[in-house]
Amino acid sequence: MRPQIALAMLAFATISSAQVTAIRAGHLVDPETGRAADNQIILIQDGKFTAVGANISIPAGAEVIDLSQSYISPGLVDAHNHLALTYKMDPENNSYYLTSVLDSTPLRAIQAVSNGIVMLGAGFTVVRDLGNNANYADTALRVAIEQGWVPGPTMINSGIIIGGFGGQFYPVPERESLIYPEYLNADTNDEIIKAVRRNILYGAKVIKICVDCKPYGYTADEMRLFISEAAKAGLHVAGHVQTKAGAMRAIEAGIFSIEHSNALDDEAHKAMARKGIWRVGTETPMTDYHTGVNDRTRATFQRTIDGMKNAKANGVKMAFSTDADYYIPNMTRAQVVIDFLKSWKAADFSAPEILKIMTINGYQVSEIADKRGPIKVGLAADLIAMRGNPLQDIDALRSVNFVMKDGIVFKKDGVMTPEKFFHSGPTPPGSWRIH
Ligand SMILES: [Zn+2]
Repeated sequence: MRPQIALAMLAFATISSAQVTAIRAGHLVDPETGRAADNQIILIQDGKFTAVGANISIPAGAEVIDLSQSYISPGLVDAHNHLALTYKMDPENNSYYLTSVLDSTPLRAIQAVSNGIVMLGAGFTVVRDLGNNANYADTALRVAIEQGWVPGPTMINSGIIIGGFGGQFYPVPERESLIYPEYLNADTNDEIIKAVRRNILYGAKVIKICVDCKPYGYTADEMRLFISEAAKAGLHVAGHVQTKAGAMRAIEAGIFSIEHSNALDDEAHKAMARKGIWRVGTETPMTDYHTGVNDRTRATFQRTIDGMKNAKANGVKMAFSTDADYYIPNMTRAQVVIDFLKSWKAADFSAPEILKIMTINGYQVSEIADKRGPIKVGLAADLIAMRGNPLQDIDALRSVNFVMKDGIVFKKDGVMTPEKFFHSGPTPPGSWRIH
């Protein structure tokens, strides 16, 4: 680098680090305690919170943002989504097969950018993204967001889902290769190790496995191998589970999280609570969208609600999670996601309980709580605001009208203002591995 460029960069760095943003927070919500503190001041510098409290003076020259009429909350987390997948929901044809045939990885990465922008605009500052993203479109999205090329949530992505032969697909023998790129086959211990390493190399932040997608699901010992191999890179293992037997094997192995909740009963919940295993339940209220409300969908939804109540009664750690990867006419990805509030309300969770699950629990299951999430000094400056009080009416979260990410305003007065996110820096070396 030429010295004059280095000098210019140094000067820029000095100026930017001096810039302070001050927020006048009318009601600062703390999801941990379920209380709101009135008339608080939040100071932000270099993308981090530097002061939070009532008796803080605003430094001269600070940019002041007036949210004195708003409720300010930490950002929301969807702990199970697939931003690079949007398929047409059709009960007769499982059309996500078609997505993997018809849509290229680059196209799906662009789709992921669009979904990410919409999610951030709705207040979701973190998304745990668990596979079905073609050939690492999820890692591409994460890197692009971390580089500041596009706005979007902090991404905790899994790379490609690892499963026994076939993953979740049932291809014909002539089309066996269609399994890839949606799934990595791993049927032996050597293949398990190689598949985990492949995902680590290509940018996964969590390892996602199909526990029991096929009759030849993973044994507890095989899952222990996944867990120990992932641990070498500091990663945990999330298991897609669809049978009771699979759930019990995953729990026995000490898996980090169980994704989906259809197979979880009282016995499974008790065992999960004992071991501190996360329930990422993806509890959908959407059974009526494609088939219409009928006795069958009502019964399905009731089972979902009963399961949530049982998990709560057993003290299982629960995350707000959606698996919302399908297109519903006239709804954005974020509108589909936030509609999952219906399930939590139907299961009699109070507004403060739901908010805590969507924030504090979300940061924990995403394993970012030491870096971002809570509005606390030293953490990344992510926050959202709305007019209504989410501690009294959780549906206030449907009308998030202000979003800040890493100290940069992304949405103000209900309008997205993404200009400050579009940096045009070069691809960094080893960009897949950026944290
Ligand atoms: Zn999923």
